[in-house]
Amino acid sequence: MAQKDFTDIDAISAIRLAMLEERGIRRALLPTERLADGRVLRGGEPMISFSDNDYLGLSSHPRVIAAAIEATRKYGAGAGAARLITGDNPLNEQLEAKIARMKRMPAARVFGSGYLANAGAIPALVSAGDLIVMDELCHASMHAGARLSGARVQTFAHNNVTSAAHYLQQRDATSHALLLTETVFSMDGDLAPLEQLAEIASQTGAWMMTDDAHGFGVVDQKNPAPIQMGTLSKAAGAYGGYVAGPANFIELLTSRARTFVYATGLPPGVLAAALEALEVMEVEPGLGAKALGNARLFGSLIGRNDVFSAIVPVHYGEAAIAMAASATLAEQGFLVTAIRPPTVPENSARLRFTFSAKHVEADIRRLAALVLKTLADAGQAK
Ligand SMILES: *Cc1c(COP(=O)(O)O)cnc(C)c1O
Repeated sequence: MAQKDFTDIDAISAIRLAMLEERGIRRALLPTERLADGRVLRGGEPMISFSDNDYLGLSSHPRVIAAAIEATRKYGAGAGAARLITGDNPLNEQLEAKIARMKRMPAARVFGSGYLANAGAIPALVSAGDLIVMDELCHASMHAGARLSGARVQTFAHNNVTSAAHYLQQRDATSHALLLTETVFSMDGDLAPLEQLAEIASQTGAWMMTDDAHGFGVVDQKNPAPIQMGTLSKAAGAYGGYVAGPANFIELLTSRARTFVYATGLPPGVLAAALEALEVMEVEPGLGAKALGNARLFGSLIGRNDVFSAIVPVHYGEAAIAMAASATLAEQGFLVTAIRPPTVPENSARLRFTFSAKHVEADIRRLAALVLKTLADAGQAK
């Protein structure tokens, strides 16, 4: 048999990598151990993370860990098959019932991840000939679902209700239109004007779907959207995604969402962890408020009163400056990852601080003082 020839792929990949490097957008992995005792080790050094989405600290909650271990012992490590084949562990249904109840929605379907939920649900709603009108800052997974659907995609300026209305009014009355937004924007931490958007969706006869990845468990906004997706990998501390909505639509997903039909069910330990985490959320309803309070404390210390979620972005402009600020914080034991293009628009490189119910005030104060110093160093102190 002839030997595989990788030279071409490898040579072209090397050129592409060099181009990314030149633009300052080449990414690299950094092994990071988030230990169950709350410590985070990077390169063996203990750090305090202000860069994960485990807003309630539930990924290391003793009850959640115990539930994952117990289900794994009982059922094994993997689901064995897609849910429609033999992988529909009863924990799926329990989890779906709980999500529907917490979201005050008629029904819910659990997916392998939030990304898969968006990539599966959007094409189950609209197709070629239909129109999608979406906020320009919607997550990559919503863009993926929109493209997979084959519908015409029109983005509107971030949170601009007038612009969204403008595009929705141009819809073809004989086809479907779908309005997409996030509830809490993942990179900016700001909130969508959900009630106004729902109003224009209703006026133009469009459907509306929201991505609540960063709201669930933390920000309890009134949300009139009839279809709401979210993830179990952030505040719920586990893994998996969900779509909640009207019963027939949820039932339709079981046959039509390709990322549901053709993907293996979640591992039983993950399902049990998510289920237990949602139970902890119900018995400890103060956790979300604590995370939000910590974010607001940080905001007030750096002169910001525009904190509405557990996410606080601090802008540095150029990617290299944000990277330098991240390095300065790391030297002092704070893990805060710089977010660069293409995740965010050009020249809007930032440090994205995320706050959890487990952070303590002394650390937040020390962090805020350092951040003010990095901003002054970057010549951007406000
Ligand atoms: C993280 C995220 C997702 C994807 O969820 P996963 O469960 O991590 O796949 C979708 N939408 C938004 C806004 C997110 O931040």
